[in-house]
Amino acid sequence: METQRLVEKDPTLKKDDLIVITGAGGFIAGNLVKYFTRKGFSRIRAVDKKPLYEWYLRTPGVESLCLDVSQEANCHRVCEGAVEVYNLAADMGGMGFIERFRVECLRSILINTHLVEAACRAGARRYFYSSSACAYNTLLQQDPKVRALKESDAYPAMAERGYGWEKLISEMFCQEYWVERGLKTAIARFHNVYGPHGTWDGGREKAPAALCRKVIEALDRKEGNITIWGDGTATRSFMYIDDCLKGIDLIMHCDELIATPINLGSSELVSVNELLSKVERIAGVKLKRRYDLTAPRGVAGRNSDNTFIGQVLKWEPSISLDKGLAATYKWIKEQYYDRKKGKRVVE
Ligand code: NAD
Repeated sequence: METQRLVEKDPTLKKDDLIVITGAGGFIAGNLVKYFTRKGFSRIRAVDKKPLYEWYLRTPGVESLCLDVSQEANCHRVCEGAVEVYNLAADMGGMGFIERFRVECLRSILINTHLVEAACRAGARRYFYSSSACAYNTLLQQDPKVRALKESDAYPAMAERGYGWEKLISEMFCQEYWVERGLKTAIARFHNVYGPHGTWDGGREKAPAALCRKVIEALDRKEGNITIWGDGTATRSFMYIDDCLKGIDLIMHCDELIATPINLGSSELVSVNELLSKVERIAGVKLKRRYDLTAPRGVAGRNSDNTFIGQVLKWEPSISLDKGLAATYKWIKEQYYDRKKGKRVVE
């Protein structure tokens, strides 16, 4: 793709410049709001369609709006005065969700379509889009001993039906808004993000949170076994939330990466069986494994090739799975027992 265009230098981002973050009632964007607040940014507009009491994280002092950004008029309202816009709103979940609800996933196209236009019209300086490793060609992911995916592996395209195609087309919107309209866009392809304040129950949770919860449940119910989706051999890499936040910030503010999709993921590959063994070690238990071969399982293997990010940013996600899982397990355990006591928790 032709992305050549003169990159004019941005004025320095001021601490009172308005930053808009959508999907802020969810996992990654909720944490991103906190991240920028901690960096000293004083004007953050956080947006999600969920009612405020359902947001995973609420950061005091932040303008928090309950608005559906798949609606064009709301996008204009949301982008008014924005200097930077981060789009992390999407209808999504783990494999159980994205295989079953393809229409919902595809309809997220409305969010990015309206938001990137509104950001451009509002004169925003930069726009971030959260893409996914599900945009990659699925034919390259049929072996658990997978070759890590590099950025050029998205084309020829054979993305995950529904969710992956929505990501691919939204990426293209972001690229063309730069080429044709001069909006500086950033596109990160996230590979499985996990950590505290994410979904851990209810059907949208992903493997690390689901396995933590199942181990906690087994211990609580004094059951000696656990059911795993698939045969346990599928492989993935998992990125801890803190690495994800730092990566978003670096990618968004790198001129070399304008309109250029880039992997943002860990390259520490594990099988589902290994992931469970790690959780068991943290919990101090060993459970008998049952494999549900009828459950959704996704591609056989997927890993992030971090050559490009390493070259451009001289950085890549590095928080180990052992460390990140320990923090995640602790948080889910607290949520689980709080809920049991009748406290309101976020699932
Ligand atoms: P999440 O489900 O926790 O958060 C997404 C939020 O978007 C939800 O709170 C939801 O209510 C909100 N939303 C959905 N539709 C909306 C709309 N029309 N208007 C306003 N808000 C809306 O998911 P997450 O894990 O935080 O993911 C954030 C982004 O990162 C998404 O674009 C997702 O596709 C992408 N991503 C995440 C992962 C991961 O492992 N978590 C991996 C790849 C890509």
